[in-house]
Amino acid sequence: MNYHVDAKGFFGRFGGAYIPEMLYPNIETLRHQYLGILEHPDFKAEFASLLRDYVGRPTPLYLAKALSDQLGYTVYLKREDLNHTGAHKINNAIGQILLARWLGRRRIIAETGAGQHGVAAATVCALMGLECIVYMGEIDMARQAPNVRRMEMLGARVEPVTSGSRVLKDAANEAMRDWIAHPEDTHYLIGSAVGPHPFPDMVARFQAVISEEMRAQLQEHTGSPLPHTVVACVGGGSNAIGAYYHYLNDSSVRLIGVEASGEGVGTACTAATIALGREGILHGSKSLVMQTEDGQILEAHSVSAGLDYPGVGPQHAHLFATGRVDYVNVTDSQALAAGLELARMEGIIPALESAHALAYLPQLSLSKDDVVVLNLSGRGDKDLSAYLQYTEDSVV
Ligand SMILES: *Cc1c(COP(=O)(O)O)cnc(C)c1O
Repeated sequence: MNYHVDAKGFFGRFGGAYIPEMLYPNIETLRHQYLGILEHPDFKAEFASLLRDYVGRPTPLYLAKALSDQLGYTVYLKREDLNHTGAHKINNAIGQILLARWLGRRRIIAETGAGQHGVAAATVCALMGLECIVYMGEIDMARQAPNVRRMEMLGARVEPVTSGSRVLKDAANEAMRDWIAHPEDTHYLIGSAVGPHPFPDMVARFQAVISEEMRAQLQEHTGSPLPHTVVACVGGGSNAIGAYYHYLNDSSVRLIGVEASGEGVGTACTAATIALGREGILHGSKSLVMQTEDGQILEAHSVSAGLDYPGVGPQHAHLFATGRVDYVNVTDSQALAAGLELARMEGIIPALESAHALAYLPQLSLSKDDVVVLNLSGRGDKDLSAYLQYTEDSVV
């Protein structure tokens, strides 16, 4: 079974590049050049050096003893929360900014929902001295004001998006429009394993450093590079594909993706794309998409802004269709409770996104020596008000 992209840019029947003609030259350049650039020794050396000295990699693989005792099996946390800027998104941002510079692009655009990817993009643009424009829905700008300030402090221009529902999917549309208008000098720094080919494959390759490190660290800790199970949360799917990447062909390793079901899959307030989505095209590729009978994109809802997206990367749609990865989902309140518990138990405040993955752990029934690696995609400082709100609501 092939879980990777084929020569035409597809993962099984998903993927491809469904783009307006104006973007064709730009995407073609990327498609022809990305593998050569990513494999170039100079590129690899600079990527590795920035991951080490700027991002702080390798991130630790931490044996969570108290959590393991409670669950009855062995849990390691891959500490992506300890990266510079607080999440895995910087891995991809560093990779793409080096690629943009390699291609001679001077102007960087990005979309952001919660602002996490916007901050990562603004950070690497400051590092490289490149112009940065971040498209962000007006509603999200109000909800995530501190991240707007951060991006501005880093020298980026945050462009409010007033079309549609004024959230992430509208910001992505606006970024696409900008790219069409500036195909010559601009790179679109996409924040997850989504978008037209070659973005999903390229982002997966940048995030694959997560599972590359996991293998070496597990070997050291347990004597084997292979865990029983890997668990990760899935929004667009970049942290999850990074955590699975070097295990896709190890059939003994169970891979689990946790989506956000919001108030529940049976409600209108949900973001469980794989559970509910149908085949469709969103942001340049064919994947599973939450949509109405007649193909209108539905709005996603999750307490976690990073999982609040009505699509999912095409590789995940393929991994679902082939049965290689099991996709499950947990609700807002399950995630909030799991995040609060990890804070008390291990002294780690997880991002609400990562808390979704944590909330699934009690459903695994394994024995003491079975090893589970949970990809802790980010830190939860940004989510304090949601956690506090939940604590107050649960007390009364
Ligand atoms: C953005 C984000 C996610 C979701 O994005 P993926 O591309 O699915 O990884 C998950 N965790 C954190 C901490 C994030 O910031």
